Amino acid sequence: MIIIDRNNYFIFYPLLVEAGCGSIEPRHCTVPIREFAPKSELLMAEVVGLDVSTKSVDFQLIGDNAVKGIEYDHLVVALGSVTRILPEKIVSGVRDHAFFMKHMSDAVALRDRAVELLELANAIDDLEERRRLLHFVVVGGNVTGIEVLGELEVFVREASAYYRNISDEDITFSIYELNQRLLGVLPENLSVWATRQLKKRGIKIHTGTSVKEVHADRIVDSDDKVVGCSTVIWTAGIAPSPVLGQLNGLPLNKFGGLECASDYSAVGLDGVWGLGDCASVPGADGKPMPPLAQIAIRQAPQVAANISSVEKGRPTKPGEVHLQGVLVPLGRHRGVAQIKGIRVHGFLAWAMWRAIYLLKTPRLGRRISVLLDWTLNMFFRKDYVQLGMHPASHRDMCRSEEIDATNQG
Ligand SMILES: Cc1cc2nc3c(=O)[nH]c(=O)nc-3n(C[C@H](O)[C@H](O)[C@H](O)COP(=O)(O)OP(=O)(O)OC[C@H]3O[C@@H](n4cnc5c(N)ncnc54)[C@H](O)[C@@H]3O)c2cc1C
Repeated sequence: MIIIDRNNYFIFYPLLVEAGCGSIEPRHCTVPIREFAPKSELLMAEVVGLDVSTKSVDFQLIGDNAVKGIEYDHLVVALGSVTRILPEKIVSGVRDHAFFMKHMSDAVALRDRAVELLELANAIDDLEERRRLLHFVVVGGNVTGIEVLGELEVFVREASAYYRNISDEDITFSIYELNQRLLGVLPENLSVWATRQLKKRGIKIHTGTSVKEVHADRIVDSDDKVVGCSTVIWTAGIAPSPVLGQLNGLPLNKFGGLECASDYSAVGLDGVWGLGDCASVPGADGKPMPPLAQIAIRQAPQVAANISSVEKGRPTKPGEVHLQGVLVPLGRHRGVAQIKGIRVHGFLAWAMWRAIYLLKTPRLGRRISVLLDWTLNMFFRKDYVQLGMHPASHRDMCRSEEIDATNQG
């Protein structure tokens, strides 16, 4: 078996926000593919093309521009998803000014950004500007947005204790959610509880409101209100990997996802299968299965079994993967969760989140590393230093975009 991936690791996403906010070492939420699948061959390469008639995939090895090809008997397409960015005429400035939470580099860039802003804000005398610099805005109030909001707020407030000129009132966190309530994926009572907790911490919650312009120094919300801020984190949805569009012959739905039958086979193609965030696979209720790691992980053995059945001339079976639950950490040892219909909130939900994802973290060594990180954090303060690897963190802090334009011109 050959795995083609642009990275030689995969991310254990449930821990990505914690990695970004310093609760665990960033590399502890990654899993080396060679260690995880030692019997497979790994090609660290970018997939760039597909020919379904000759059953071959084109790729470029990372660091080499030559396009090479490889033939397949069975191709499993699991390219994942990207952050959904709406067209400029609907929401402008997102690509240029917002931060995201999808890759390891995003998580580290956000942490670097927060530290850099604290340093800058501490060194200036203008109170209004200091407060603008320390205003963080999250757009999208579902699971990822709430997790980023909760963890980053704790990180920034705890770090600010080291900065003499920064008081608690100088730091503001705001969240914008188009729906009438946060955490639409959870039942209303859990959403209400989480909202109350966040409000108690001083977080400004704007539901039924979105953002239509993102600038370096401000946002404009859907009610045309201009709000000064310096960091916008865009967590308003995901879309199937756009790479699918470059792979000729794949059946794509109107959202750009790979259209699959209930046994994971790509509609109308022989030997092509889809799973995970990039694939639209109908579940038992006929609706596409949700784009979640807990779904993708359980789809994988079913895809493998169906490929084996095809090879042996046996019939394939439809997928039977259901959502088991949703757990959302809110920071400050609080969380909300619904597991198999049971609703939990508070410390218990947070502890369940940690226990479940610790057990689900692939490989024993990684599990121990994460546990050690968490244990050390109970007794010592985090390191509020920049990792200094990502120029994105330096992006657009100054007050006026006009100044930027003049400098460039
Ligand atoms: C911050 C965050 C937190 C999350 N928390 C949870 C959670 O708590 N619980 C949960 O169930 N789900 C969670 N999710 C969702 C979960 O991460 C996804 O559903 C899951 O990762 C989907 O798996 P996948 O294999 O389809 O895609 P991915 O895990 O994204 O894997 C896709 C792979 O394809 C590779 N790739 C992409 N394009 C190319 C190319 N052209 N060439 C070569 N390689 C390529 C990528 O490098 C990557 O390794 C979270 C997501 C995020 C962003």
